[in-house]
Amino acid sequence: MLPKILVHICCAPDGLYVLKLLQTHYQVTGYFYNPNIHPIEEYQLRLKETLKIGQFLQIPIICGEYEDKFWFQATAHFKNEPEKGRRCDICYALRLAKTAQVASSRNFDFFTTTLTLSPWKKAAVINHIGRMLGKKWGINFLEADFKKKNGFKKSVELSRQYGLYRQNYCGCLYSQR
Ligand code: SF4
Repeated sequence: MLPKILVHICCAPDGLYVLKLLQTHYQVTGYFYNPNIHPIEEYQLRLKETLKIGQFLQIPIICGEYEDKFWFQATAHFKNEPEKGRRCDICYALRLAKTAQVASSRNFDFFTTTLTLSPWKKAAVINHIGRMLGKKWGINFLEADFKKKNGFKKSVELSRQYGLYRQNYCGCLYSQR
């Protein structure tokens, strides 16, 4: 029996590559929790695309709530930070915290995130946050840097093959600027 892992999915192109990769070693469930995405039409589009990858790979996808007000409040002091700054650290932490909580309450063996696939995301920070949350919730965090071994390039090719929508900004209002 393969161990059960809950994978936080930031978007469909990243999710497709990472879930496909993990499927060989884990019993995978996806988790879409991204209150950072703005506006709501963009959120709905990314969610719709993510649900498609669940169908492609025959993997269940759990949809979190769209807690955009909570996200804006938590990051308000850092709205002028550049990408990869402190606002992003909070943004990673909020999404990972919810993933850890859900994984723990539903008796998964592991949790992780697709976030490290992006060349614009700090894997060391994400893994540090994941380890801390794993300790807090008593669940294993799978550390990774999915962009390694040409992961990002492969994900771009794979998402093209499957005809998935690929966004041109990270997700929040501030990253649209
Ligand atoms: S740029 Fe991306 S990671 Fe950073 S706060 Fe915005 S949505 Fe989150």
